[in-house]
Amino acid sequence: MSTTCDDLEKRLRKRAQEAVAKLLEQKAGRRDLSMSAMEDLVGDFESEIRQSLMQEMVADAQVTQQGLCEPCGGKLRYKGKKSKHVVTGRDEVVVERDYYHCEQCGIGYFPPG
Ligand SMILES: [Zn+2]
Repeated sequence: MSTTCDDLEKRLRKRAQEAVAKLLEQKAGRRDLSMSAMEDLVGDFESEIRQSLMQEMVADAQVTQQGLCEPCGGKLRYKGKKSKHVVTGRDEVVVERDYYHCEQCGIGYFPPG
């Protein structure tokens, strides 16, 4: 396993642990939660996990995909981050992606695509 994979694993574990901690905090030690209250808590947990893990996966892919414009070979200029709404299995999440712009032909890039 490469260093990058180790780093990604650490970040994914950290995000998952943060989501579990938040769930427990919201549960606040209560044992009398209704089924619908549990569904709400677990639903929030699912959204949080989906959002944060997608963000880490995108960030991980972006680190390795910077370079030159494929069609023209021009230099890509970093233009900051842009939000993208991603529809996953059941839900929609928003992830931030790095945005590059080719100085030569004007094509925009959002690695990993
Ligand atoms: Zn180009």
